[in-house]
Amino acid sequence: MTSEELFARSQKVAPGGVHSPVRAFQSVGGHPLFFEKAKGAYLTSVEGHTYIDFCQSFGPNILGHRDDEVQAAVMEVIDKAWSFGTCEPYSLELAEWMTSEVPFLEKLRFVSSGTEAVMSALRVARAATGKDKILKFDGCYHGHVDSLLVKAGSGLAGEASSDSAGVSEATAHQTLVTPLDDEASYLKVLDENKDQIAAVILEPLPANFGLLIQRKVFLETVVSEARKRGILVIFDEVISGFRMALGGMAELLDLQPDLVTYGKVIGGGFPVGGYGGRSDLMNLVAPAGRVYQAGTLSANPVGMVAGLTTLKKLKSSGAHKILESRAERLAKELNQCFMTLSAPIRMTTYGSLFWIHPVSETPIRRVDQIPKNHGENFKNFFSQCLKEGLYLAPSGYEVGFVSLAHTDEILDEALLKFKEAAKRSFG
Ligand SMILES: *Cc1c(COP(=O)(O)O)cnc(C)c1O
Repeated sequence: MTSEELFARSQKVAPGGVHSPVRAFQSVGGHPLFFEKAKGAYLTSVEGHTYIDFCQSFGPNILGHRDDEVQAAVMEVIDKAWSFGTCEPYSLELAEWMTSEVPFLEKLRFVSSGTEAVMSALRVARAATGKDKILKFDGCYHGHVDSLLVKAGSGLAGEASSDSAGVSEATAHQTLVTPLDDEASYLKVLDENKDQIAAVILEPLPANFGLLIQRKVFLETVVSEARKRGILVIFDEVISGFRMALGGMAELLDLQPDLVTYGKVIGGGFPVGGYGGRSDLMNLVAPAGRVYQAGTLSANPVGMVAGLTTLKKLKSSGAHKILESRAERLAKELNQCFMTLSAPIRMTTYGSLFWIHPVSETPIRRVDQIPKNHGENFKNFFSQCLKEGLYLAPSGYEVGFVSLAHTDEILDEALLKFKEAAKRSFG
């Protein structure tokens, strides 16, 4: 069966034929490809074609697909058990390892997704402060938590309205929204909602609506002004945690949140999330405290072992520097090619993440700075890349991921393909 045939069947049994929206290729056109195998930097489609994968499951596979060490560890634990619903040593080992690497992570709780981690952290923040409102930034994504599926409203500063059908206006009104990169608007919302805000939540490296790299002083202001007012700070490091550095963006920025959320790489490709931070806050969580949060498959041993093996390998191989230099090389060579062709796009990187974005004289730090025609420009380039055998996340607003499996040789191969795709799109 071809991808096209499989997609037709899928559309009968799943909404839009998929189990997560961006997989449907709606913003790039055509039908999505179905893949049945993956190894390292490569994906193999049901048609038997191979692609160099720069999506890597949207981040979890930082070592590449099916890393040998992770696979061996997973096979070993599967021979013992794959779910206990009891106490077991595997989550203890991962929790001890993570808390010893991240200074402000005193205690944590494992869950099964980034969304769950965020939802639980918000509950803790509300319980700790006795306040209801949460402040978020336009352009930061925090999973499909009801109260965070909101957009800026048209009325008062910070007022939010629901951004998804099925989210009640009452829920949306518990959230305040303010733009990134804008100290004045942030302070205004804080002042106008005095003594009502439980927490400010942000991606310290917003990477789900393009890659909106923030000024360090802006992030410092966000944290310090919240602190002054007794508002908790939650760093959503689901994408950046352990990826940018073992201590995530918090380490790179030298900022300490009160609570942090994790996901993606901490499960090494299996469904694992986690939230944690100050122990006085985490001690509010049941059974230590009165914030209820539970999960049948939480701390699943397969995910725990895959996560620990992945994180240890990141550390022992000095992966962060290697990943960064590979991503930088990719961007440098590709941008030269884009410039020669007068292409309307460029690639920007941060650590192992890259974003293909519209040409812009100043860095793009906010959603409203992304020109509306970006989707169209990206669509064309995406299709040419796919023809050449490069798999990018199928949307101009998603970032790309360089993994440890993208060796220099594979990058050479990828660059040839990227350049060919650029010529066809913009030559
Ligand atoms: C991916 C992501 C989430 C959601 O995680 P899921 O595992 O998809 O629920 C939340 N926050 C950020 C910053 C993310 O990148």
